[in-house]
Amino acid sequence: MTLAEPSFTGIAHVVVDIEGTTSRSTYVYDVLFPYATRRFDAWLAEHADEPQVREIVADIGREIGVADPTREQVVDALTAWVAEDRKIAPLKTLQGLIWQEGFDSGELVSDFYPDALETLGAWHDAGVPISVYSSGSVLAQRNWYSHSPVGDLTGWISGYYDTVNAGPKREEASYRAIAAAIGADPATLLFCSDVVAELDAARDAGLQVVRVRRPGEPHAIEDSAYPEVSVMADIRLSP
Ligand SMILES: [Mg+2]
Repeated sequence: MTLAEPSFTGIAHVVVDIEGTTSRSTYVYDVLFPYATRRFDAWLAEHADEPQVREIVADIGREIGVADPTREQVVDALTAWVAEDRKIAPLKTLQGLIWQEGFDSGELVSDFYPDALETLGAWHDAGVPISVYSSGSVLAQRNWYSHSPVGDLTGWISGYYDTVNAGPKREEASYRAIAAAIGADPATLLFCSDVVAELDAARDAGLQVVRVRRPGEPHAIEDSAYPEVSVMADIRLSP
């Protein structure tokens, strides 16, 4: 059963997902992923001598069981992982670095649903701290918020969490880790996501949860009994 405008009490901090929640997931798949994939080969060639890039290449080698992979092997592995939608840390890190160049050059601008911008802004104005939890890297998340269609929104965000500093999004322990990092009782956190399995994990960790179920988003077809909204502006926070 769902409410038109679910209300949440005792919320000290809101944690928001990106893809499918604040932003169109199609943008990530249709714009960001191909942008990075087209540049893997040239970007790795150009940055091959940088310590962080050597570390990424070594991580990819470990994943594919090759001690000193050629650039072709690395690019093939990366391209396959993107096609399979695998969330592998060195892939996410590399995509984040490539997107950073795109955002810095102005070639890329991030995407937000208008109601998400309105709601995040209203929460910020009301003094509600907001953190982001996404499978995209922390760097990618910062770029997302600093290069929005309405300018730099990083002033609204007090923390960034990803699969590296928090853990996988469908595991309860990740949400406990986020609550501990924020320094808040899990029951005072509200997690907003479009994916039911993520809401399950957050709920199991003791967080309050709201499902953002936007028509047309891939996860909108899932069934759940969580409070849900089709636009974030319908989420009510009360003292
Ligand atoms: Mg999502």
